[in-house]
Amino acid sequence: MDKLKPYLFDLSLEDLTSLILSFGERKFRASQIYENVYRNLYSSFAEMSNIPSALRPILDSEIRFSSLKPLSDLVSSDRNTRKILFSLPLLNSPKPAQIETVLMKYSSRNTACISTQAGCALGCTFCATGQGGFQRNISSGEIIEQVIFFERILRKENEKLTNLVFMGMGEPFANYDEVMKAVDRLTDPLGFNFGARRITISTVGIVPMIKRFADEKRQVNLAVSLHAATDELRETMLPINKRYPLETLIDACRYYVDKTRRRITFEWALIDNVNDIPSQAHELVRLLKGLLCHVNFIPLNPTSGYDGRESDQKRIDKFREILNKAGIPNTLRVRRGIDINAGCGQLQQAVTVNH
Ligand code: SAH
Ligand code: SF4
Repeated sequence: MDKLKPYLFDLSLEDLTSLILSFGERKFRASQIYENVYRNLYSSFAEMSNIPSALRPILDSEIRFSSLKPLSDLVSSDRNTRKILFSLPLLNSPKPAQIETVLMKYSSRNTACISTQAGCALGCTFCATGQGGFQRNISSGEIIEQVIFFERILRKENEKLTNLVFMGMGEPFANYDEVMKAVDRLTDPLGFNFGARRITISTVGIVPMIKRFADEKRQVNLAVSLHAATDELRETMLPINKRYPLETLIDACRYYVDKTRRRITFEWALIDNVNDIPSQAHELVRLLKGLLCHVNFIPLNPTSGYDGRESDQKRIDKFREILNKAGIPNTLRVRRGIDINAGCGQLQQAVTVNH
């Protein structure tokens, strides 16, 4: 029966209010609980001393407080990256689903890399999540609870999350409604009040959703995983390119920039002798000319199901030089957390970490 109980992090303030009213309680109790959860970061109803002690057990029996169960907690050797593997409730799926979430600490910021699906159905060849297949969509609450989990840890150290990237497991635009509910609740000024401009959503390029996202005009940043500048190459790496080829993808990106006036980020994992060759750089220049954008390079992270290797520095420099000459802004991201498989594209179900 437990799974039928409403899950606290799935509830908007309005949802919580109707629930509280249905218990015969006063409306303001809902706001108190909402603040206790999103501002005070309490992790149980028992801690809520501003809620009458007779009401707390009722809340406990009627509302599920948490869905994420930490199964493992790994810290990188440089101590700056931490990865948690969570199990999720069974719901209707035959197997228990799992997700991984990563915290990256930098000198002046703390970034959480959040999963938006358990697994991924899109099968990009070089991505561990894609290699493992799809388990299930996760709910807005399961997305939010990943954020709250790390915020609680950081608060104990007198720190807080400064950036959120939806770049963990899964394709955010294949679970669009739940992801946007999570974004809207995380940015709610009455609750967690996280700055939308400090959130980045990364998509593999689901064209209709890029357009919808543009129309909805949130202040959230958009990143698009490009990785190749010709259809011929891109479809060997990202099967979704057959459905949404480059021309339609770049058209949607132009639409996004026109509508929002926001700069778009393109992601490019540099793979030795695959997409780091000068002809790809020239094609990329042609594709992006005149678009308000930025290219974020990262040397490929290793995954068990893909043979390609990361590019060496000389090839990276040469590739970037072609973009620099064409005036296309670009940066090279430093790889992080590779020793605990917490880098981009390395997140997956338990197998390697926990039994
Ligand atoms: N599904 C979304 C977001 C999750 S993946 C997307 O594809 O954009 C986050 C980023 O990691 C994407 O840019 C993805 O292309 C990249 N990535 C996947 N596998 C990688 C690998 N092995 N090395 C480096 N980056 C990788
Ligand atoms: Fe899915 Fe993104 Fe991995 Fe592709 S790169 S398989 S879209 S998570």
